[in-house]
Parts: sequence; structure tokens; C-alpha cells
Amino acid sequence: MGKSEALFEQAKRRIPGGVNSPVRAFGSVGATPRFIKSGSGAVITDVDGVSYIDYIGSWGPMLLGHNHPVIREAVIKAAENGLSFGAATESEVTMAELICGFFPSIDMVRMVNSGTEAVMSAIRVARGATGRDKILKFEGCYHGHCDAMLVSAGSGLMTSGVSASAGVTAGCARDTLTAPYNDLETVTRIFDRNKGELAAVIIEPVAANMGVVLPEDNFLAKLRALCDANGTLLIFDEVITGFRLGPGGAQERYGVYPDLTTFGKIIGGGMPVGAYGGRRELMEQVSPLGRVYQAGTLSGNPVAMAAGIAQLTYLKEHPEVYEHLESSAEKLFGGLQVLIRRYDAPCALNRIGSLGCLFFTPGPVRDYGGAKSADTGAYAEYFRHMLGSGIYLAPAQFEAMFISDAHQDAHIEKTLAAAEAFFGSRL
Ligand code: PLP
Repeated sequence: MGKSEALFEQAKRRIPGGVNSPVRAFGSVGATPRFIKSGSGAVITDVDGVSYIDYIGSWGPMLLGHNHPVIREAVIKAAENGLSFGAATESEVTMAELICGFFPSIDMVRMVNSGTEAVMSAIRVARGATGRDKILKFEGCYHGHCDAMLVSAGSGLMTSGVSASAGVTAGCARDTLTAPYNDLETVTRIFDRNKGELAAVIIEPVAANMGVVLPEDNFLAKLRALCDANGTLLIFDEVITGFRLGPGGAQERYGVYPDLTTFGKIIGGGMPVGAYGGRRELMEQVSPLGRVYQAGTLSGNPVAMAAGIAQLTYLKEHPEVYEHLESSAEKLFGGLQVLIRRYDAPCALNRIGSLGCLFFTPGPVRDYGGAKSADTGAYAEYFRHMLGSGIYLAPAQFEAMFISDAHQDAHIEKTLAAAEAFFGSRL
């Protein structure tokens, strides 16, 4: 028995499912999770000493690759001054200015510890500011595990085949309305039936938790117009897309600006960080200025801020990172497209920038229903083959592939060779 296997057995006795986040259990792909010991650049190494080219990147934060020296040094330097004070620090001001500088739709921002907290708080602001209760979200979008968002959610819920979590009250779920992604007709109908009742529409501007699904036919702009016409706030959950699709996130890329934005992942550089921000008059509703309460013992933690500031500053000073991400993603997904054609594989690719996925369905995939039609058994086989070839993919069909600046041509060529062996073996 390898060390990962032994650790997993041990973990299962003390940690539910042996993991601290469900997708890590590799349950839907029939494999043993690898216990990771270290990472460097695009490569991670497990406790058995086996190395993998990593396309998870901690589910998004590691945009510059693992153990980037600039981030590591910033963390060490900050830690030398103390780990937490529960008091205001200069680094929080620097972080707030950095985020507002990148995102013109954000006048003020509040730091929290996770994407879940960011979303939960943004929703509270929207309800407080509008005096309305109902929220509209999209099927297959995942916004973290706060009660209101565990309705028709993507990511681990979708993988486990349940659409909502036990333990969420019926009352809470009732205030969360859902529509299919890219379906403006249904959204319009929901607006009509709930006149004056919708506090906010929340959306992943590019959905990345049912695999990757892109907004089509100006969907985001049309949502913006519907929200404006109905006094409803638009929240972009940029926990994945923020700083990945470009320095100004999906909102800059699509030219559609929300009232509130949520962040996580990349802005922490690998540390536990989230943030929510938006227009001044909305953020002024937050305590201690306003009556929307939100707080956090470790919010704005100086070591976490140091990691995030280092990553965001690096991106500001190295805009060429985005060109490299684009060209690496183009090579990888272009190569996969060639293989799909060559082996006549019933697969579809969705991609924007360094975010993409391979669906085991002919597609096109433009919503939750399309994503769910994917063959999860075939994905599981693909996953196990790739893992055995040293390629670490998401252990679920309904997740994204994350490319980092550390991925080089050699990594992509090795990945494509492994994928070709898989498709070739299925002929
Ligand atoms: N929003 C989106 C779009 C996410 O992808 C996630 C996590 O994957 C979250 C929110 C929740 O973030 P966290 O896991 O940091 O709580």
C-alpha cells in the first residue's frame, strides 16, 4: 500500500470522507486521492514521491504556479512580523487600493476569508440595500456553501448528483429562485412573476462549476438591462474569473459591469482570502457605517494580505502573464480539438483564456442540462488514465481545468501525448 492510500484510510477514520472538501475524495472517478507534499511551478509531488503536471492549481488560486518565489518571500517577510493582530494593518489598505484600481466598478471593498463568505456577505448587502428577500441564481453555478446558494448548485453537489443540500431550510431555499444559464426567456419570466421582490441576480459571469460554460448572445448585458429596469442588483461572482480572465476579470472582458463583485482564490495567492466590493453607496451599508452586519476575526489577515498583494502586484507589473496564459491554453485546447477530430471522439471543448474544460458529450454545452448529459463514466476512465500518466486533472467532469503561468510547452506536449494515448486506446 502506498503512503497516499494509507493516509486516506487513516483520514477516513477522523475526517468525514477523509477530506476537508468533498471533491478531494476522488469519489466519482474511482481513484485514491493523492496526498500532496509539495508543489513547484506547474508540478505537484505526492507523499509517495510521484510528480504530476497540475491542472487544478488549488482550484484556481495558483495563477502563477506553485511556490512562486515572489509570493513565498512576501509571506515569510510578513510572518516575521507576527501572524494576526485583529486590528487594522497597512496591508489591508494596499489590498483594497489594488482591487479598486483593477476594477472600476468597485469603489469600496471588504476583505473576508473565503469565496463563500464573500458571496454570503454580498447577498446580505443586496438584501439590506433593496429591502427585498429574493435572489435569482443560475442552475449549475456554484457560489460557495452558504445556505442560500446551495440550490441547484454546481461543483461537488452536481458531481454527487444532488441538487440541494440537506440542512438548508425550506424558507431559505424558497427565497432562492433559479434559471438555466443563458436562458433569458426564463429570467424575464421570473422577473415578471416577482415584480419588486428580487434583491439581486447572482451569476458566475463565466460558469466554471459545471465544467466551463460561456455566456452567449450578450447574456450578461441583457441581465444588466433587466436588473436596471427592475431595481435589482447584479452580482458577479468573480471568485474564479477575477484576475484570471484578465486584470479586470470577466466584467472587463465582456464590458458589463455589476453592482457588486465577489472574489476569492487568486486574490489570496494561495492563502484563505475572499472579498466583496462595489459601488460606494452600497458598500456604505456595511457595518460600522451601515446596518448590514459583517465581521471576521481573521479578515484582512496580514500574512494572507501579503500573499495576495504579492500576486496582484506581480500581475500589474507583468501584463505579459495574460498573453502567456492565452497562448498556453490555445496550445492545450487546440491540441485537444485536433485529437477529438482525429479520433472522432464524442467530446466538446469550452474555453475562455486559461479556463476551460473537456466534456464527454458531443455538445455544444451551454447550460446545466447540457453539462449533465456528459458521460461521467468516460470522464472517470480518462481521469484515471491521465493520472497514471502523470497528469493531475479535476477529479470530476463538472469542474474546470486551470492553466497557470508556470505551464510551459513541454508540460502541454506531455499532456497531449497522454490524452492521445487515451483516445487512441478507445478506437
Ligand atoms: N464562488 C465560486 C464561483 C467558486 O468557484 C467558489 C469555490 O469554488 C466559491 C464561490 C466559494 O469559494 P470558497 O471555496 O473559497 O468558499
